[in-house]
Amino acid sequence: MENHENNSRESGLSKVIARNPEEEKNITAFFKRTMENQTSLPFEREKTESQTGVIEEILKYLPEFIKQYRGVPVMFSADNVHVIDPEKMSAEEKEKFKYMLRGAGTYDANDQKLISQYQPGDEKKNLKFAYSILHEIMHLESFQSYQQIKSHAITDRRLGISMVSYKDGKSYFLDINEAVTEELSKRFAEKYFGKMEVLQPELDKKDSWKRHLKPHAKHRGENLRYVEDVEGKSPTFFYHTYKDEREQLNELIADLYEKHKGRFESPEKVFDLFARACMTGKVLELARLIEDTYGKGAFRDLAEKTKQK
Ligand SMILES: [Zn+2]
Repeated sequence: MENHENNSRESGLSKVIARNPEEEKNITAFFKRTMENQTSLPFEREKTESQTGVIEEILKYLPEFIKQYRGVPVMFSADNVHVIDPEKMSAEEKEKFKYMLRGAGTYDANDQKLISQYQPGDEKKNLKFAYSILHEIMHLESFQSYQQIKSHAITDRRLGISMVSYKDGKSYFLDINEAVTEELSKRFAEKYFGKMEVLQPELDKKDSWKRHLKPHAKHRGENLRYVEDVEGKSPTFFYHTYKDEREQLNELIADLYEKHKGRFESPEKVFDLFARACMTGKVLELARLIEDTYGKGAFRDLAEKTKQK
């Protein structure tokens, strides 16, 4: 639950629609316990000292960043971050936990776990690790609501801007939510990674590679996360994820900005509306802007267009 007095959350849970206040209390306490009493996974690797350092550095700057978008920061610890090794997983585990293997990172809301997937050689790649968890941290910090369906069952309703429909079980606005989440990670990294000593050597390397990118590839430079260069091989460049979703979001933001010239100081102020909706769960202001611009029903159309495929 939101705790307005100290303005932080004890778990990722922002709101639960329970059958009665007693159940609401129980569910809230359950999430808090889950957040605080983390169990490790059987196929986990111990975090390196530098990885723990990265998490602690991120935590230092996170509350001010989240509050900037009117979110209520969740204070987690390095214990909530789990590095999993696919090579340590049995075939059954790979099947059971396949949702953890889809990307470099996963946010497991039910277990309040932030998961980073290990690949051989990752021990030294702190920048890669930082990015892999940052996106998931933004999900954890987003507005999250649940609904109680039976005495011992709850279901997720909202994560950030996205909302699960009862009709088809699909997540609406999913693409927009992922795009906003990654854009938030990008902004956080731009603002704070440079202050983190543990990331400095890799950031320096990234900067020197960035200078070599051709001028027309400027936007690619902006979207560069990290570079892997092994001696004797040509380097591999890794960029911010959800490229298409972010392009669509940024086009929408540019169009809203153009159509309301004078109302917003910059396109960034339009992005702020999306980011605030993601962090607070309040979408009314955004819905109104979309409907004012594209007509009645446009917000619902957007939900449909960007729903889970
Ligand atoms: Zn995501």
